[in-house]
Order: sequence, then C-alpha cells, then structure tokens
Amino acid sequence: MNKTVVQHTLQSKLNTKLLIGEPMHKHTSWRIGGEAEYFVEPTDLTELQKCIVLANELQIPLTVIGNGTNLLVLDSGIQGLVVKIGRGLDHIKIDKTTITAGAGALLPVLARRAMEKGLAGFAWSAGIPGSIGGAVIMNAGAYGASISDVIQAALVLDQDGQLRRLNKEQMGFGYRTSALQNGPWVVVEAVFNCLPGDKEAIKAQMDENNAKRKAVQPQGYPNAGSVFKNPPGDSAGRLIELAGCKGLKVGNAQVSTHHANWIVNLGGATARDVLSLIDIIKGRVKEKFDVALQLEVRVLG
Ligand SMILES: Cc1cc2nc3c(=O)[nH]c(=O)nc-3n(C[C@H](O)[C@H](O)[C@H](O)COP(=O)(O)OP(=O)(O)OC[C@H]3O[C@@H](n4cnc5c(N)ncnc54)[C@H](O)[C@@H]3O)c2cc1C
Repeated sequence: MNKTVVQHTLQSKLNTKLLIGEPMHKHTSWRIGGEAEYFVEPTDLTELQKCIVLANELQIPLTVIGNGTNLLVLDSGIQGLVVKIGRGLDHIKIDKTTITAGAGALLPVLARRAMEKGLAGFAWSAGIPGSIGGAVIMNAGAYGASISDVIQAALVLDQDGQLRRLNKEQMGFGYRTSALQNGPWVVVEAVFNCLPGDKEAIKAQMDENNAKRKAVQPQGYPNAGSVFKNPPGDSAGRLIELAGCKGLKVGNAQVSTHHANWIVNLGGATARDVLSLIDIIKGRVKEKFDVALQLEVRVLG
C-alpha cells in the first residue's frame, strides 16, 4: 500500500502519537538500532488493539517490544509498525496473594511492590530491567527461578486484536523461552500466584541478589545482559572465556572483560559490530568445545 496512505491512516485513526523514522537506539538498552518506520507507545488497551487491527488492514508488519533490554535491532531498522508496550499498560494490582500486572510494568517495580506486601516469589527478579510482557515472552529468570514459577495466566491479544486468556500450560515455558515467542500473541497482562512471606527476609534476599549482580556483571556500558543461553549443564560465559574471546572487539562492540557472555557498547557500536562478534564467538566455541551456542537476545529488523 502507498506509504502516504499508510501514514495518513495511522495518524488519523490512532489517538496515540505516531512517530515516523524513530531511532530504535533510543528504545534498546544496547543503545543500538536503526529507525522504526512507524512507532507508537499505546496509551491503553484499546489503542493497542487498534494498532493490531490497523497493521492487518494496511498489510504492514507489526513488531511489539517491551523495555528493549533483550533486543538487537539491526542497523537497517524495522519496517512497518513498532509498538512499545510501556506506561499505558503498566498497572499493578495486588489482591491478597494474587498480583495482576500490565505487560508494561517493570519487573523490578513489581518485585519491590510484592516485597512491600510481604509476598514471596519475585526476589530472583530484582535487577532484571525488563517489562512483564518481555519477561513472559522470554521466561526471564535468575538464580534457578523464573517467571514461569509464579505465573498463573496471561491476557493476550491474538492476530485479530481479540483478547484471550492463556493458562500457564498454554504458554509452553522452557529455559528462556515460551511458546509465545513465535507470535502472534501480544501480552497485555499477567496474573501471578505468590506465597505469603516475611517482608524483611524477602528484602534481604533481593539485596543479596542485587549485590551478586553488581559483583559479576559489567557496569557502565550499554548492554543487553547475557547474549547466549547457557548450554545444558554449562555456562556460556565460561566457554566463551576459555575460547579466548574475553575482551575481543569489533568496531565499538566488545566482549566484556568482566563477564564473557555480555557484549558491551563502548560508544557508537553498530548491530553489524555485535553480529560480527557473535559470529566469531560462535565459531570459536564450536571449534574448541563442539558446542553450538544459541542466542538469548532477540534480533529484530
Ligand atoms: C543489565 C541486564 C541484566 C539482565 N539480566 C537478566 C537475567 O538475569 N535474566 C533474564 O532472564 N534476563 C536478563 N536480562 C534480559 C532482559 O531484561 C529480559 O529478557 C527481559 O525479560 C526482557 O524484557 P523487555 O521488556 O526488555 O523485552 P524486550 O527486550 O523489549 O523484548 C524481548 C522479546 O519479547 C517480545 N515482547 C516484549 N514485550 C512483549 C509483549 N508485551 N507481547 C509480546 N511480545 C513482547 C519482543 O518482541 C522480543 O522478542 C538482562 C538484561 C540487562 C540489560
């Protein structure tokens, strides 16, 4: 369809501000990524539904992102409509031991609110900077626990923008994966079952987890956390380090000298730099250990 018609239709039918050619590096923790052809951050559920329906009608691709902390957006950017789920859908409601959180709520905020109410189940998530939607899609986790341990159900939109409720089994969780990863679902809200706990003990656990993170994770440069999944029974960081990749640089992207499973942006790194490093790391680890590393970060564009 004609570009002018697409732009005019999106602008006239959405109440949310439409950004054209929005630099995606502003929306990723790696601070990398070309432009989104069209970009919106829906102000509520109705606007989000409209985005899905309009992308269908206009036959343009739809890409949904959360807080952008697990994303590598290509330098060529993203065609079609990019929808960021954030402040418009960031409600958190707590009723006894049940927490209902919008997909745009941030995991550390939810963890703190749960702790303040003396609810256990989220201490592992302190310090993971993702949104609830992104955490559900990725089955985010740490220290042997993950979001799949506490989730009961999720409200999602299907490809026609219709609301559906999925139970935990339907979401097909695995290690840093879910059946929702390959679309077409858009996570709108998640419901969690927590156990009553001791507020001080939960806080102490969160402080301890945060301190552990500070000790092992690189600080100061933009990054997206772990780049690769840990292979069964091993640690990707250990293999990458033993394969001699620590500190390796391509352009302004560098395998962290602190934690080999992290790639940091030293300033002005491109997606191409990061992808080249990824290829080198994969090649060296395969050659030395015969292990095929799998990406944990999601590549968009
Ligand atoms: C410093 C740092 C530390 C980290 N530590 C950890 C850790 O310990 N454990 C861990 O698991 N991860 C960790 N991460 C990675 C990241 O924070 C998690 O994967 C997080 O769950 C991603 O959430 P997000 O909102 O940023 O998702 P995004 O990066 O925006 O998106 C991730 C994927 O989910 C999709 N998506 C996002 N929201 C929705 C939605 N509402 N509906 C449908 N699809 C959606 C996107 O299309 C994309 O495929 C870390 C990252 C950083 C930068």
